[in-house]
Amino acid sequence: MKNGESKYAYTKTTAWEQFTAPQLKHAMAFAEGYKTFLNEAKTEREAVHLIAQAAKRAKKTYVVTREKTAAVFTPGKTPIRNGLRIVIAHLDSPRLDLKQVPLYQDSDSHLALFETHYYGGIKKFHWVVIPLALHGVIVKKDGTTIPLRLGEDPSDPVFSVPDLLPHLSHEVQDTKKIDEAIKAESLDIVIGSIPARGDFKEKIKAALLEKLHTMYGISEQDFLSAELEAVPVFQARDVGFDRSLVGGYGQDDRISVYAALQAVCDVRNPTHAAITLFVDKEEIGSEGNTSAQTPGLLRSVIKQLDPKADVDDVLTNSQVISADVQSAVTPNYTDVFELKNAAVLGSGVVMSKFTGHGGKYSANDASAEYVAQIRALLDHEKIPWQTGELGKVDKGGGGTVAKYFSRLGMEVIDLGAPVLSMHSPYEVTSKVDLYSAYLAYQAFLKR
Ligand code: MN
Ligand code: MN
Repeated sequence: MKNGESKYAYTKTTAWEQFTAPQLKHAMAFAEGYKTFLNEAKTEREAVHLIAQAAKRAKKTYVVTREKTAAVFTPGKTPIRNGLRIVIAHLDSPRLDLKQVPLYQDSDSHLALFETHYYGGIKKFHWVVIPLALHGVIVKKDGTTIPLRLGEDPSDPVFSVPDLLPHLSHEVQDTKKIDEAIKAESLDIVIGSIPARGDFKEKIKAALLEKLHTMYGISEQDFLSAELEAVPVFQARDVGFDRSLVGGYGQDDRISVYAALQAVCDVRNPTHAAITLFVDKEEIGSEGNTSAQTPGLLRSVIKQLDPKADVDDVLTNSQVISADVQSAVTPNYTDVFELKNAAVLGSGVVMSKFTGHGGKYSANDASAEYVAQIRALLDHEKIPWQTGELGKVDKGGGGTVAKYFSRLGMEVIDLGAPVLSMHSPYEVTSKVDLYSAYLAYQAFLKR
């Protein structure tokens, strides 16, 4: 009996209490590599680059497609017709993308700016008045790619979206609904202010075009074929006196990416082929040729493992973990959560039987049989875990890539770390949840 509960009751304890002292030491150390990863992989392309490097170091086979998706895998002891063990996570995070014709001079304010179009689900007021870095590529007509990463080095300049001072915001912002106070079209980024000397119609724009040509050898038209993402400059840091938490940008879903990557790199002699898939475009509905909906990445892995395998057989017998984050109960806003079924920071990796919204619409709803298998695995390996549901029924919701894999006939369940302030420029996670996720993915991949 514990706390006066029946011995048949489901009681929950935190991962801090479940892990042994040496495990807690490992968890804290594990988070150091994670913070470095968050700082170095702020876009899907940068993440793919680091994944390839890690796979090479660990002598694992890997595939990269279009610089935006990757698979890292290792063969198992049993033929792949008996199924695969797949962990899939997404590499993209909400941000501000530059428009194709981004550069303009605002002659009223004597500033030059970039136009943006936000990517993924953001709260627009989060993205004003914070330092931003520009990451991405400019591809010239001849195919030459110019990589760009400006704002991360302390000596680099940064960029920022201006906002109105409180003295003047009463009518245009303060009395409006919060999601109407900042307009998407006003999320433009200040990029310069020095006018060119000479006879130009727009002198600041002319000076900046000159500067961009000197720095990158580009002209204005080259932005037409560029992918430039404005992301928060914030470095990943410990949060709290006890350093239990990690604050940083892009933890949805790079916490799963990092945990899965370390898991597949560390897995030895798995029973089934162990595969991690890293995909793009989840935050905009998994559309397009680098998303979870495109079958190419998994097919190429299957082909490399066994060119003669019957793909349908392989898929039907396969098991998948959709490694994506779950919302953590948020202090001061607990009303939107149904607390018996909501996940909290620090209680381990979160198993979500289903996702979707209102009446489980658009959800992958994992079978009780599969839940039982994963539950047994986690308990057997003594890995801290909890269940989760994204808010009260009919309060909102959200999906993951799980449904795109379950429709192929595989068993799929969502298992990922809880996140506080999800989709904000500074998300917060717990070091023990990160470590639980790593242990869970590794145990699953080894089966
Ligand atoms: Mn996600
Ligand atoms: Mn997300």
